[in-house]
Amino acid sequence: MAFLRAWRRLRPCAALLDAVAPETCALCDLAYDPRTWCSRGSRAPGLRLWDEPHLCRPCAARLDTGPFTGRVGRVGRDSRSLTVWAATATSAELTRALGAWKYRGVRGLAWPLGALLAAGLARLAPTTEPCRLVPVPLHGSRRRDRGFNQSEVLALLVARAGGPAVRTDLLRRVRATAQQASLDDPAARAANLGGAFAVVDRRDGELPREMPLVLVDDVVTSGATVLAAAAALRAAGRPVAGVLALAAARAGVAGGRVDRAVTPA
Ligand SMILES: [Zn+2]
Repeated sequence: MAFLRAWRRLRPCAALLDAVAPETCALCDLAYDPRTWCSRGSRAPGLRLWDEPHLCRPCAARLDTGPFTGRVGRVGRDSRSLTVWAATATSAELTRALGAWKYRGVRGLAWPLGALLAAGLARLAPTTEPCRLVPVPLHGSRRRDRGFNQSEVLALLVARAGGPAVRTDLLRRVRATAQQASLDDPAARAANLGGAFAVVDRRDGELPREMPLVLVDDVVTSGATVLAAAAALRAAGRPVAGVLALAAARAGVAGGRVDRAVTPA
């Protein structure tokens, strides 16, 4: 935290603060060191003044898993299927970083994760046409509990890094659903999302009907969530080009498959 860091510079406060609130890397427990620490990025809603990345640079580099630089695949079947652009492979480090961000409130991890997604967008170049990013919404109750929507924060950070503009006003989660991660069965995952999303019909003419939309989610596992979100948008006449995610399961369920690794040119 920023004010703690300022106090830390005033010895002997540092020793006392380290005892009560040690600042360490969220992945390797390395103590804070300005020379090897991830820096903050631009602020987005969902990030507070005192948030810090809490991540050392070697761990941030490990999130982007070496020569494996991204994957493109599809989830769903036939006309309802969706292309998935995943910035990186799933890894134990990424799972831990996402867990710390979403469930343990280490909000500043959004910066390195947002940078990872922005790099994925640049490398995978999902569409050459103008498009809009649509983060997968959380239900109001879950958003209140967590304090932010991880997909929205990621999308906003990607937009600030030069990506397409974000629309958070097109899609709503109208039904609170069980956490997808708690359901193993593909059929249960799909059923859990029935009627979960609704499209806000905007008649202001601000967004052309033909503008392609790219959904943004943190991780695509079975694809059930993004397929349900895309189905709602498509039913309202909005074209969905695919999904941009930090990572996607190599072999999803519910017909999902991520099958082509992409290496940079
Ligand atoms: Zn570390």
